[in-house]
Amino acid sequence: MSNLDSSRLSPRLQSVYQSVLDANPGQAEFHQAVFEVLLTIGPIVDRRPEYSDLALYERIVEPERQIMFRVPWTDDSGKIHVNRGFRVEFNSALGPYKGGLRFHPTVNLSIIKFLGFEQIFKNSLTGLPIGGGKGGANFDPKGKSDAEIMRFCQSFMTELQRHIGPDTDVPAGDIGVGGREIGYLFGQYKRIRNRFDAGVLTGKGLTWGGSYARTEATGYGLVYYADEMLKARGTSFDGKKVVVSGSGNVAIYAAQKVQQLGGTVIAVSDSSGYVVDQNGIDIELLKDVKEVRRLRVSDYASEREGAEFVTKGSIWDLPCDVALPCATQNELPVEAAETLIRNGVQLVAEGANMPTTPEAIEALQSAGVAYAPGKASNAGGVATSALEMQQNSGRTQWSFEETDQKLHQIMVDIHTQTVAAADEYGVPGDYVAGANLAGFLKVADAMVAQGLI
Ligand code: NDP
Repeated sequence: MSNLDSSRLSPRLQSVYQSVLDANPGQAEFHQAVFEVLLTIGPIVDRRPEYSDLALYERIVEPERQIMFRVPWTDDSGKIHVNRGFRVEFNSALGPYKGGLRFHPTVNLSIIKFLGFEQIFKNSLTGLPIGGGKGGANFDPKGKSDAEIMRFCQSFMTELQRHIGPDTDVPAGDIGVGGREIGYLFGQYKRIRNRFDAGVLTGKGLTWGGSYARTEATGYGLVYYADEMLKARGTSFDGKKVVVSGSGNVAIYAAQKVQQLGGTVIAVSDSSGYVVDQNGIDIELLKDVKEVRRLRVSDYASEREGAEFVTKGSIWDLPCDVALPCATQNELPVEAAETLIRNGVQLVAEGANMPTTPEAIEALQSAGVAYAPGKASNAGGVATSALEMQQNSGRTQWSFEETDQKLHQIMVDIHTQTVAAADEYGVPGDYVAGANLAGFLKVADAMVAQGLI
């Protein structure tokens, strides 16, 4: 039986899933994200009959608006290229659409919709007033000059600016979109609109409306959440061996926080392979290689004594106590989960969005491994983006310590909420169900209150 078999859903939700399949052919990632939510919210169907009467399930799986547009730009040799831009404004029941922009060659409508759908419930879990959206382009920033990146961002924003605003839709970064790209995007928005709308984008530079701790937020937040999970099992990061996949924004700061809490990060990766460093990843060197010089993890290995770059097999082959997938969707398949289980992994918490396949999640949960879905464990990034919006509205800036302390509290609260929802609905210890139930109910009640929209 396939893990996305609709007969596993509550009967009321089977037709909802079928309509998603029919209306969105070929959008495998979107199907997967919807299925996972529908699978776990079954217990709500009987308890809240009004949701069925109001077609709430049918409405929540349909984006409020989907925008696709042409992005023409010229490279340094004068050659013209055309990419496709996306912004999916999924749900504004709780606040302005909020979610990142991804620039990666694999981006398509299915990927943006899966990310936008998950974002609704993640943003709800933060307890902050933000709706869900996501965007991006099938543009590959790898190997491009700064001038090419700038021209692409300017062309992308020339269209996107019609659709966004501090009270409408507030994009941020994601894969391939960091501080440099947010700067170029913000500059073009300001130039076209003639407005310094600081609150239109988050992840800005610290001298022009950015928030302290936003760069660190997703990675730090992930580890704060995982630390709560460990505490619930009577243990901590101290002395734990940790494997972190990826070596981008989320991975770097997750690795840094693990080491601050006494764990040892023995490996990080990129799409060409992984580096093993049993003495513990040197965070300052990793930041210099990836953030300053924009090189690869293989360069880290060649500059660090005792580190080894590996291209065979998978980073998940390494025995560890904690695994933090922080690269991309479906990067941890069931075979990898089985290897991790055999090697005694105790906890898997997602920094990336949907990195663990449904089969892998089931294997981890059946083996008693503590497993956290990204919509709960990586919510620290968007939460701190919402804190950036708050600071922009108040034309103020909080210190690093104050912002980090708020982030920490938000992650503790999300952990409490997810555990409580799982307990209330009779699935104690199931963080997936807990996150989906707690996130869904808040959005659904707001939609009921706001009428048929
Ligand atoms: P970055 O672009 O900074 O880094 C992405 C990392 O993942 C790189 O090391 C990249 O390697 C690797 N990667 C990307 N695609 C693939 C692939 N197809 N196969 C193998 N490795 C890959 O992105 P972020 O760190 O910002 O994002 C990582 C994940 O975290 C994504 O799933 C994102 O949606 C999620 N996330 C990010 C948030 C944020 O605040 N930035 C917030 C919440 C979730 P390479 O350089 O070789 O491509």
